[in-house]
Amino acid sequence: MARKSWRNHLWLVTCLYFLLGLYNIAFAWLGLIFFVTPLLISIIKGDKAFCNKYCDRGRFFRFLGGNLGLTRGKPMPAWMKSAWFRYLFVAYFFGMFGSILVATWLVAAEAQEVDDAVKLFMALRLPVDWSYSGALLPALTHSDGLLPSLTYSGGLLPPWAVQFAFGFYSLMLTSLVLGLLTMLLFKPRSWCVYCPMGTMTQLICKIKEKES
Ligand code: SF4
Repeated sequence: MARKSWRNHLWLVTCLYFLLGLYNIAFAWLGLIFFVTPLLISIIKGDKAFCNKYCDRGRFFRFLGGNLGLTRGKPMPAWMKSAWFRYLFVAYFFGMFGSILVATWLVAAEAQEVDDAVKLFMALRLPVDWSYSGALLPALTHSDGLLPSLTYSGGLLPPWAVQFAFGFYSLMLTSLVLGLLTMLLFKPRSWCVYCPMGTMTQLICKIKEKES
């Protein structure tokens, strides 16, 4: 019988990341690991080892869609697989990332207050009262919204870092929601077809291949 690889359990990393972010928004910074590692691997090794072996997100969709059967299993429409759509989505993704950096800079320059909200597509505020002051110890408070309020006492992070954390968590959550939707509608790992990290690593690999 084939031995189960530890990599089969990497989907738990996705769950852990979002739970830690709920516990304290400071943990959103850890998401940069998923951002930088695939790019570094493709730049250094010229391959997609991260996608093929280590990506927790890909495993997460495989687990939900493949193992648990939460998918219709239909093929994606051709336009979603096309190069123009994938590059357009990379541009959209960078647009969202750029808006996070601008907000972070404005808070650092004291031109605006921290916007302590997690937003889908950088616009739809989640109905969670995410009050904070940047520390690692949360204290559950009253519930006056649809979901419980979380508050954080202390102050380990400067305001600009908290702003970045809220923005980055929002970006990660947005991509997760899109991935879940495409998993439900199409095949389990349909997100991987237009995932910006996948598109960028593929582009880097192609460039490296041409160079060599
Ligand atoms: S395409 Fe994106 S989600 Fe899929 S395995 Fe690669 S990095 Fe992970």
